[in-house]
Amino acid sequence: MTPFFKIDGRIEEASRRAMEKCRDQFGKIDEITEYNQLKVQSAFIEYGVSESHFSPSTGYGYGDRGRETLDKVWARVFGAEDALVRYNFTCGTHTLATALFGVLRPGDKMLCVTGTPYDTIHGVIGISGSGMGSLKDFGIVYDEVPLKNGRPDLEAIESAVDETVTMVYIQRSRGYELRPSLLVEEIGRIAETAKKKNPNVIVMVDNCYGEFVQKKEPTEVGADLIAGSLIKNPGGGIAPTGGYIAGKKELVEKCSYRLTTPGLGKEVGATLGHNRELYMGLYFAPHTVGEAMKSAVFIAALFSDFGYKVTPSYNDERGDTVQSLGLEDPESLVAFCQGIQSGSPIDSFLLPEPWDMPGYDSKVVMAAGSFTLGSSIELSADAPLRPPYYAWIQGGLNFHGAKICAQLAAQKMLERGLLK
Ligand SMILES: *Cc1c(COP(=O)(O)O)cnc(C)c1O
Repeated sequence: MTPFFKIDGRIEEASRRAMEKCRDQFGKIDEITEYNQLKVQSAFIEYGVSESHFSPSTGYGYGDRGRETLDKVWARVFGAEDALVRYNFTCGTHTLATALFGVLRPGDKMLCVTGTPYDTIHGVIGISGSGMGSLKDFGIVYDEVPLKNGRPDLEAIESAVDETVTMVYIQRSRGYELRPSLLVEEIGRIAETAKKKNPNVIVMVDNCYGEFVQKKEPTEVGADLIAGSLIKNPGGGIAPTGGYIAGKKELVEKCSYRLTTPGLGKEVGATLGHNRELYMGLYFAPHTVGEAMKSAVFIAALFSDFGYKVTPSYNDERGDTVQSLGLEDPESLVAFCQGIQSGSPIDSFLLPEPWDMPGYDSKVVMAAGSFTLGSSIELSADAPLRPPYYAWIQGGLNFHGAKICAQLAAQKMLERGLLK
């Protein structure tokens, strides 16, 4: 019962039941959050993070201690030898592309073992588009091993990884698919299988949406290189932009030559006063990810209570922060997204409408009321208006803020006579 929003009694009842169901999962999430918070905090202490690390550098940015120490703290947290954490990465795709171009050479072969990767990577690999300077344009060969019943096919991976394969590429998150996310343990098994066949292979993981969801990161179970976006999990909702790469020292160094230039690598890069936000984001990230996980679990419990298909289920083990909801018809998708938007702290007054988004073969409706443009550690929902009419939801800077958005989404559906 809140005096601030109008929520129907039926939705309040369902919310109470959902909260009951979530109790065990919330306990597990809290335990992971605490573990990861201490992991992060001890790394800050180990490297003596200090106010002086927040000082802005300009020009070449030589000897920026804040930047150098952040890389070390990041590497420690991710169980990696080294890291490259920069606000200069414009998005996750740019970060992943930097890593791929950084380590692959003409004639090398990249093998994606989790089916077809995330849409925006297609242009990087050269699966779509041409003449843009994709990996394909530079003579890098690409192949993939499809998933089997939505899970990595270890047997097929074992037979595909021969001496011609330079890199095994793994996408941890479901992205905009209905397959389950990969658990860190599964990533470990893929790395082990691949390296048994070819000990020289580089195991790279697209870690987007996965950071701090479990106690371990892919780099702790055999991945050589990982990359992700700072406007998702590890930026804690505070980093205003950026990305990170972490892994084997020699590989991170190669990536740094691609980000700046051969010969200079990590030695340059003015931070202009952004270090503080990146440190603070990392410090908050385990907690923020915990809030996003609780939001996803609650939404799963609430909408399955109404009778909708949800994946994952509220009590499934999760490897990412993404939740999908089968809302069954286009009107419900639109009402859902409009309800989410109406409870957002920013741009609550906007009414999301389906539009022809470039790169999609159907209209898409999106809800995003975030402090940082496009941030998906903040609560956001996207839904292509095509069968099976699923909405993909991720983020939630704080659980209570996301919970009311979920209730308002149900409320909007109820008011339009759509709620089951
Ligand atoms: C978000 C994401 C990316 C990168 O997307 P950007 O929008 O460029 O940040 C890549 N892979 C996966 C699985 C993602 O979720």
